[in-house]
Parts: sequence; structure tokens; C-alpha cells
Amino acid sequence: MTLSLMPPLNLLPLKFLSDTLMLKPSRAFFKSFATTMSVQSSSNPIKSRLKGVVFDMDGTLTVPVIDFQAMYKAVLGQDLYVSIKSNSPSGIDILHHIEQWAPDKQQKAYEIIADFEQQGLDRLQIMPGAAELCGYLDSKNIRRGLITRNVKSAVDLFHERFRMSFSPALSREFRPYKPDPAPLLHICSSWEVQPNEVMMIGDSLKDDVACGKRAGAFTCLLDETGRYDSPEYATVEHKPDYKISSLSQLHLLLETNFDLTP
Ligand SMILES: [Mg+2]
Repeated sequence: MTLSLMPPLNLLPLKFLSDTLMLKPSRAFFKSFATTMSVQSSSNPIKSRLKGVVFDMDGTLTVPVIDFQAMYKAVLGQDLYVSIKSNSPSGIDILHHIEQWAPDKQQKAYEIIADFEQQGLDRLQIMPGAAELCGYLDSKNIRRGLITRNVKSAVDLFHERFRMSFSPALSREFRPYKPDPAPLLHICSSWEVQPNEVMMIGDSLKDDVACGKRAGAFTCLLDETGRYDSPEYATVEHKPDYKISSLSQLHLLLETNFDLTP
């Protein structure tokens, strides 16, 4: 048994990392863990079946170009932005706030958001590793779905421009949207699979991870910059099962932790 059998630390379940690795593990510990992992991957009695992966779009399948903080400030105004932000450690749910507003104020807010989203579309780029990952999932007959809080026209443009297809692909027009689990449960039911056979992956703790956990799915947080390592996120209600810093890490994570037989 060699240490090379051990997967990279960032592919291990977060609970495992927080419970154990923080305690300065010895070389013997690493060796015993490598052994455990190897046994799991060869005889494989406890790997969970995975039949589908559901992706967030902006910042997950596409490179993040929307400056959300600037958008929230433009919609809410500086004072309300600061007050809401201080009470929302995992992030601001801008659509939720707008829904409570009077129609004319609401209309103006949607126009500001549409402007920011349009700027995002103009600079749309596919996330590095996304095309390869989709090819890998297809080779394993793993279903691919999409849930976004962006509008349907943005999803259509994404499909058209990158010639990738996700189905079902649910946009903001599907209510209630993330972080409600409804869109993910809808996809599971249309695939005729259980939520615990599906992984939700996205770059937002408050939307993607919360939606996935509430639905009972596995969750994977894409955190390219390590921003969620910051202490302000330590107390959030929903924590991801896995965390990666690049989409290219996902296929090894899936191979290591899941039974991918169709
Ligand atoms: Mg996102």
C-alpha cells in the first residue's frame, strides 16, 4: 500500500477533514487512511450510487463575470445593502428581497439586474474543465441537469454558444427557485432517481449548497479562490459534502467516492 493511493486532500469529504486532519495527523495516520481508501475503491461496499449531476450555471459552468456585490448595491442602495449584508453571513438573496417590494420599485430593480446580467452575457465564457467534465459524465451515462437563478434566455444562449446540452435546465421562471429544493426535486423526479443519487454542484453556498442539502442530494462547492475558507462562513447552516477549486477535480472526486455504474 503506498501513499500515492490517497486522493488529494481537497477531494476528501469536508467532515473528514475538519474532524481529523486539522489535528496534525502523523505519517502512520496517513498510511492507514490510504489503506482505507484503497479498500473502499476496490471492494467498494459502501460507495453511494450516483446517477446524475446538476450544475449551477453562472460561476460554475461559465466563468464568473457578474459583479454581484456591485449589482446588490445598485439594487438596494448602499445603506440597505450594508444592513442586509451584516445579517446574511452566507450572502444576499436579492430576488427574495425584491419580491416584497411595490411593483414599480420591483420593476426598476429587475431592470438593474437585467443590465448586469446582459453585461455578463456579453462576456460569457465556458469554465475551464467544463467540456471535458461533460464528456466524462456522458461516457459514464451520468445525467446532466442545470438550475440557475438567471433567466431562460441566458440558458438558451449558453446552450447555443457552447453546444452543450443540460436537461432539464431550469431557470428563474421555474418557481420557487434556489435555494428552495423544488427545482432539484423536480429534476430528480423527471429523471426518476432519488435525490440521494444526485449531486448538486455550484459556486454558491447560499443557493447551490442550500438547495442540494434541502433536497437531500450530495453537494459540491466550487470555490476557485478559497473565499469560503474565510471565518464568516464557518457558521452557515448548510455545508457542502465536498469542495473543489476547479471543475477538472470533479471526475477524480466522483471516481473515488461514488459508484458510477449506470
Ligand atoms: Mg453561481
